[in-house]
Amino acid sequence: MLEKIFSKRKKENSKVMALKGINLVDGLSNELKKDMTIIIKEGKIIEIGKDNETTIPHDANVLKLSGKTVIPGLIDAHLHLLQSGVDDFMKPYAESAYKKLKRNSFINLKSGITTVRNMPGGFGYSALKFRDKINEGKILGPRILTSGPALAPSNGYFSLKQYITSNTLMLFILSRIFRAHGLSIDVDSKEEGRTVVRKLKRKGVDFIKTVTPGSFIPFAEKDEKLKEELLEKGMKLEQIKASMKPEVLQEIVNEAHKQGLKVAVHTISWPDDFKKAVKVGVDSIEHTPLGLIDKETFKMMKSKEIYWVPTAYCFYNWTNLIDNPEQYDTPKMKELIPEPFHSLGKKSLQKVREGIKQGNDPIWSRFYNEIEPFKEEYFPVNFRRALEEGIKIVAAVDGGVSGAAYVPHGQLYKELELYVDNGMNEFEAIQAATKNPAELLGIEKEVGSVEVGKVGDLVVLNDNPLEKISNVKNINCVIKDGSIAYKSKGALD
Ligand SMILES: [Zn+2]
Repeated sequence: MLEKIFSKRKKENSKVMALKGINLVDGLSNELKKDMTIIIKEGKIIEIGKDNETTIPHDANVLKLSGKTVIPGLIDAHLHLLQSGVDDFMKPYAESAYKKLKRNSFINLKSGITTVRNMPGGFGYSALKFRDKINEGKILGPRILTSGPALAPSNGYFSLKQYITSNTLMLFILSRIFRAHGLSIDVDSKEEGRTVVRKLKRKGVDFIKTVTPGSFIPFAEKDEKLKEELLEKGMKLEQIKASMKPEVLQEIVNEAHKQGLKVAVHTISWPDDFKKAVKVGVDSIEHTPLGLIDKETFKMMKSKEIYWVPTAYCFYNWTNLIDNPEQYDTPKMKELIPEPFHSLGKKSLQKVREGIKQGNDPIWSRFYNEIEPFKEEYFPVNFRRALEEGIKIVAAVDGGVSGAAYVPHGQLYKELELYVDNGMNEFEAIQAATKNPAELLGIEKEVGSVEVGKVGDLVVLNDNPLEKISNVKNINCVIKDGSIAYKSKGALD
C-alpha cells in the first residue's frame, strides 16, 4: 500500500533542493531550532543541520528563507473532497466529480495540507481513481488516502434510502450503476459486513468508514414527542430506528483488520454509543457525541490506542453561520466555496435558519439547542478529559461536509485554534495535525515530522506557530515530495 501512496514524479524531483536560514519546528520536540538548513534529494530529506555546519551541494536549488519557520506538511485526517461545503452530493449535475476533486484538493494544498484522509461523498468510486492520479504525480494536490462508501445500516446515516425514500426506482437504478448506494452501502448483518469489507478491499480503499451504534437522529431515541412529530411529517419508523448493531460493527472491524484496513467510525450520538464503538475496538472515532464522555471510556480508548478526531470546529462554524448570515457572504467564503455551490449553500442555510426560528424544523431546532451546551460543556470537558488521559487527538474540520456544517476546505487551522483555546499547547496542536494523523493513517515512517529519510513534505510559514497557533495559516510556500507545490504571493523572497 505504501508504495502506491508514495510513488511520485522521480524526474522532477531528481534535483537537489536546499532550504537555508530557516527556523525549524520538526514536529518531534517543542523547540524552535534556529538558523537551520534542510537538504532534499529525490523527494526525500537527506540532511538537516545548522546553516554553518551544512555543506550545500553546488547544483542545489537554494531557497533562502531567513526568518521563516518550517513545519512538517500538515495532514487533514477527515474531509470530504467530493463535497464543497454544501449539500451538493445530490447535485452531481452542478459540477463534474473530477473538477470538484481537483479544486477542493488544491484549496487544501494551498493551506499547507500535503496529505488527506478522504471520507465518502458523491457516488461510486471516483475518489479512488483521482487518488491514484494525484499519488502518481499526474495532478497537483495533497497525497490522498480514501475510504469507499461508508458502511451503514439500511435507512441510517448515509444510507441512500434516507435521501430517496419515495423513489424506489431511482434507488434501484443508482445502486445498480454504482454497485453501492453512493455515499454508503447498507449493511445489516454480520455476513454483509464481512462481504462488503472484502469488496472494498478489492476496490482498493485505504480504510473503512462506518458508524457507531445509535440513531442518526439521536434526539428521537429519547424524545417520544419528536418521534411522533417526525412520523407525522412522513418520516418512516425504520429511519428513526436505524442503528448499527454492535455485533455487526465488531464483524466489520474484525474483517477490516484481517484485510489490513483500519476502521473509522462516525458518531453524532449519545456518549453510550461512542462507548460501544470503543469497546468494539475501532481505530478512530470521528466527531463528538452529544454529551459527556466518561473517564472509563477514555481509559478504554487509551488502552486500545483508539484515536479521537473531534472535528469540533464544524459545530462552531454552523452556529456562527446560522446566527450571522453575513459571515457566509464574505469574499473568503466565496473563494473557498465557489459558485454554484455558494448560492446553493446560502439557500439551504436560509431554509434551516427559518426552520429553526419558526420552530417548524424539529431536527435542526433540536440540534441548534445542543450547540450551546456543546460549546460550553461537552467539547471543552471531553477534550480536557482526553488530554488528561493521553488520548491521541487528530485534527480535522470535516471540510466540505454539508448538513450541520458548511465547512469550506482549507481551514484546518481553525480546529487547531480551538484545541489551543481548550488546553493544548501550540506544539501539541501541531502534532495533532502531523505526527498523530501520520500514525493513524499508518504512514508515520514516511511523513508527519521533519527527519532525515522522510518525504520532503514541508510548509514554510512567515511566522512561528509555537508562539501563536494561528500562524500556521500564514503560508509562504508548500513543498510536497521535495518540490514546490504552491507559493503564496511574495513568497520565497
Ligand atoms: Zn465527515
